[in-house]
Amino acid sequence: MSEHDMKLVVVGAAGRMGQTLIRIIQETKGAKLHAAVEREGSPFIGKDAGELAGAGFIGVPVTADPLEAFLHADGVLDFTSPAASVNFAGLAAQARIVHVIGTTGCAQADEDKFQAAARHARIVKSGNMSLGVNLLGVLTEQAARALPAAGWDIEVLEMHHKHKVDAPSGTALLLGEAAAKGRGIALKDHSVCVRDGHTGPREAGSIGFATLRGGSVIGEHSVLFAGEGEIVTLSHSAGDRSIFARGAVAAALWAHPQKPGFYTMLDVLGLNS
Ligand code: NAP
Repeated sequence: MSEHDMKLVVVGAAGRMGQTLIRIIQETKGAKLHAAVEREGSPFIGKDAGELAGAGFIGVPVTADPLEAFLHADGVLDFTSPAASVNFAGLAAQARIVHVIGTTGCAQADEDKFQAAARHARIVKSGNMSLGVNLLGVLTEQAARALPAAGWDIEVLEMHHKHKVDAPSGTALLLGEAAAKGRGIALKDHSVCVRDGHTGPREAGSIGFATLRGGSVIGEHSVLFAGEGEIVTLSHSAGDRSIFARGAVAAALWAHPQKPGFYTMLDVLGLNS
């Protein structure tokens, strides 16, 4: 570790992604764990963040005080809940630091607050931080552009572990947005997220979502282009949460020298057309 390492705060440190982030920071050159934050009243306050994450003692006790944690930090890695992320974005803007947001299930009002915070903070937000899924998004956009809406129906299928609280997943929505972009339409006007009962025939040009939940599945996503007599399937399978954590740390390192603003993983990976 050197004094030039980027000082990162992990919020939601005891969560599935929080623990993975702590482990990945430990093994990433140019980054170090500055602080680890959990909510007030959490049984993990005061415990060593490294031991909590199974990475051995690192001398950073978990705190419930994000303000103090952000004060001398360079960036925040945030995979928590929409309300918590909105709060952290305000604090990151005050501290004028990097805020990497992986939290999904955010409402438009939350997104507006992230945009406002991005006037002072460098925000990178994505429903999926992995290289593979972001590439899948680019391929989905290309396929949607190439296959005419009149003959090809687009369906996004996803499966996640039984603890996931939002649906469709942030990744499914990211893929749906990519498909809509390829077709030159707005996803919100064409998405069908639920089908139940007598739905009638499929509306041409719509983008459907199907959600499966169960077990410990980290993340399975497929985009199906269903035509007459043939189906093209693009898919991604996440075998390990470290793909998201590696992407988030890479995003923080990338954003460190950037100007305040709102960025996505496509900017980080140089995939933005
Ligand atoms: P999780 O295990 O429930 O972890 C969330 C953690 O955040 C919990 O420890 C929670 O504490 C904590 N937290 C909530 N509010 C807080 C606050 N105000 N202050 C401090 N800590 C707070 O969930 P997860 O599986 O890690 O997923 C977290 C989020 O990341 C979800 O939205 C998920 O969809 C998303 N995700 C995104 C990607 C991506 O690549 N973008 C990848 C994986 C997951 P409590 O348990 O006490 O509430």
